[in-house]
Amino acid sequence: MVSGTGRHRSALGRLKYLARFIFGPVGVPSSTWARISDLALFATLILALLLQWYAAEHVCRHVLLAGGQENIGRVDGQLILAGNGSGIGSLTWELRRQECGWPYFITTTLDPIRANWVMDGEGSSGRIDVVPDEHPIGPLIQQIVSNHGNAAVSKASLSPGRTSVYWTSLLFGTSLCWLGLFLAIRVIMVFSRVGFLLQRGYAGSMKARRSLQGRCPSCGYNLDGLDFAAKCPECGALLW
Ligand SMILES: [Zn+2]
Repeated sequence: MVSGTGRHRSALGRLKYLARFIFGPVGVPSSTWARISDLALFATLILALLLQWYAAEHVCRHVLLAGGQENIGRVDGQLILAGNGSGIGSLTWELRRQECGWPYFITTTLDPIRANWVMDGEGSSGRIDVVPDEHPIGPLIQQIVSNHGNAAVSKASLSPGRTSVYWTSLLFGTSLCWLGLFLAIRVIMVFSRVGFLLQRGYAGSMKARRSLQGRCPSCGYNLDGLDFAAKCPECGALLW
């Protein structure tokens, strides 16, 4: 029972040590290492936000929400095209939603409705495309698309829609970027600190060895017969 508690404590202690090693301050508080670490935490947040902004601006995918075909003749009284009175025709329309961001899509915009229509063999727009402003058929297409029944589609219009933000994805994506960038910097910091400590340890042991051999700890100059010298005659280092 006692050993069980002890093992539990040591496992917990090891976890805490690991967590401190990765996330805690590097080196003693308010040391240069700790200050660099704090700076890295702040700088990587800025970098993560910039990355998210860039991704929201540039990494986009088009999603086809809906496509529809309606007989224009069904809607009476609104078919006056070029003074032609009683047009019967067909309409093909499509609506795309643009999603941008990385690693998750964080903004979404409804593109303008795109359509192709044929009226009595004339007035065909040729291919599916954005309906020009002020085109007489515009309100009719708008109405047909609005009646499609899909909630997202009913918000569509002939002009580009408002951009909205996926807040959860933004938060999650930014946190993920931040964590990744910060961990990368921490790994570099931990390795450089280990190298620094090893080098300091090596320099310390070399000084101790030189002192024992009666040589200057700084430059290794032989101090035989200079037992009472205050400074090394070679490099000027204080000997005691
Ligand atoms: Zn010396």
